[in-house]
Amino acid sequence: MRFLVDGMLGGLARWLRILGQEVRYDSNANDNDLLRIAHQENMILLTRDQELYRRAIARKITSTLVLGETEEERLAQMASTFGIVLDADMAETKCPECGSDLKDTRKNDLVDEVPLASLKLYNQFWKCTDLNCGKVYWVGSHWKQMRHTLEEARKLTRLPR
Ligand SMILES: [Zn+2]
Repeated sequence: MRFLVDGMLGGLARWLRILGQEVRYDSNANDNDLLRIAHQENMILLTRDQELYRRAIARKITSTLVLGETEEERLAQMASTFGIVLDADMAETKCPECGSDLKDTRKNDLVDEVPLASLKLYNQFWKCTDLNCGKVYWVGSHWKQMRHTLEEARKLTRLPR
């Protein structure tokens, strides 16, 4: 699925990329830009803005009004609406910063980019394939918090409505 995410949902954009979805996010895009891009590129528009949502639906653009206040609630809504699996697999994950693909990268190639302590502690690293971004990721301490968030979101999807 390809998502276009409005400027109020930067956190959700990052999460959807982590979950392997193709996501376009530009915090400077105005409502007219978003409607045009969603229409031209046939993307699903995710928004917090009721007015924008109504305009999208009126133009037959697939759109979802994101209701939750927390990342967990929003992720649960994505899971129930689009069937997105709430589990991160580094083989599928896209760069949270820019949405490009990540590539498995050898430690030896990252000595200038990753702190030595992390190179010693971890064995697998992934680098963003977009040369302008080039961010490097590894399953470090923040990963525990991410797994916790996904677990909480999964619990919400199991609650009776
Ligand atoms: Zn990137």
